[in-house]
Amino acid sequence: MTIDNNQRLFERARTVIPGGVNSPVRAFKAVGGTPRFITRAQGAYFWDANDQRYIDYIGSWGPMILGHGHPAVVEAVQKAVTEGFSYGAPTEREIELAEAILALVPSMEMVRLVSSGTEAAMSALRLARGATGRKHIIKFEGCYHGHADALLVKAGSGLATFGHPTSGGVPPEAVQHTIVLEYNNVAQLEEAFALHGNDMACLMIEAIAGNMNFVRATPEFARRCRELCTQHGALLVFDEVMTGFRVGLHGAQGVLGITPDLTVLGKVIGGGMPLAAFGGPRAIMEQLAPIGAVYQAGTLSGNPVATACGLATLTEIAKPGFYEALSAKTRTLVEGLKSAADAEGVPFSVASEGGMFGFFLFDELPQNYATVMTTDNARFNTLFHGLLDRGVYIAPALYEAGFVSAAHSDADIAATIEAARQIFKTLA
Ligand code: PLP
Repeated sequence: MTIDNNQRLFERARTVIPGGVNSPVRAFKAVGGTPRFITRAQGAYFWDANDQRYIDYIGSWGPMILGHGHPAVVEAVQKAVTEGFSYGAPTEREIELAEAILALVPSMEMVRLVSSGTEAAMSALRLARGATGRKHIIKFEGCYHGHADALLVKAGSGLATFGHPTSGGVPPEAVQHTIVLEYNNVAQLEEAFALHGNDMACLMIEAIAGNMNFVRATPEFARRCRELCTQHGALLVFDEVMTGFRVGLHGAQGVLGITPDLTVLGKVIGGGMPLAAFGGPRAIMEQLAPIGAVYQAGTLSGNPVATACGLATLTEIAKPGFYEALSAKTRTLVEGLKSAADAEGVPFSVASEGGMFGFFLFDELPQNYATVMTTDNARFNTLFHGLLDRGVYIAPALYEAGFVSAAHSDADIAATIEAARQIFKTLA
């Protein structure tokens, strides 16, 4: 009998790491089966501990927009490593990365670099409260903003009521100022502002939501978010950890034509290294320490190796034609999947923007989290494992978006569609 190295590593991991993983979704809990332990990656592929190759559509959950091991990025990181890993003192490269980000995101006049999206969202929230002197915040069901206490909330029982913790270890007091609303529900949004607008610090949103698969804010909903924040003196915070430099060079705010007050970035700006950021107008950002009274800090913030990786990545994606080519690839993938599903009579809908996509095992694109979660788990799992068995790795959970990189070839996309076609035959 051949040894399954993934299984062997999973058993070993579970004895020393809770659940065998350092981030829950990696454990394949929703889809069942053995998580693949990755040994190496190159271009659009990674290989597991059994030396099985996969076409990678998670791209480290978003960062790897150039594919794995892009030569210019590898070179920049190798050079940076030889100059020292971390100094805890400022560097010119941090300025260069800040300038590169600000040049591409016009709503931001200043930016602060941190190490994870969680940290960036948590800090943006503190800054919003500090800058407005207010307590309440709005978030939407199905949007994920990292795992800071105040943002781990599920909806309250009535309209525009405060939420309940979704995680053990979060006291109700930590979420008592968080209002959770249904995504794309303008009436609920208006009611929340009518009731609590005078103490609303901010509204935080994934304007193209990738943590409930792929759901766009409707133009009207996005516009009302902006208008109500302005009207009530609350800050509009776009969490673009996933969408920033992923759905387009100017993020979801560029796609939707909405200017937020604060923007939260992560994933692509680090090119696969731990790097994230938040930013906005100078008057707000200068309320951060050491100028202002809102405290925020980090031992590894602006790390010289991470910033080298991020800068090299941004240089590549800012080249003319990058997003046109990436969007075309992503569209070819989702349209091919849709045609294959249609041909087999499988209800299916798809959405994409730039290098980010989603698909659903029903006909209508959903508008909110509750609809996304009506997906038949068993059918999704059949699709997931069928693809995995055929060397295609998509997110092991039905509420996650997918990512295409510049390294995915036409042949990779054609092979993916063909693999899906075979599974659709069994799902019809
Ligand atoms: N915000 C969004 C929209 C995300 O998708 C994520 C992570 O997936 C986060 C915040 C948290 O980022 P991190 O995992 O880097 O802490």
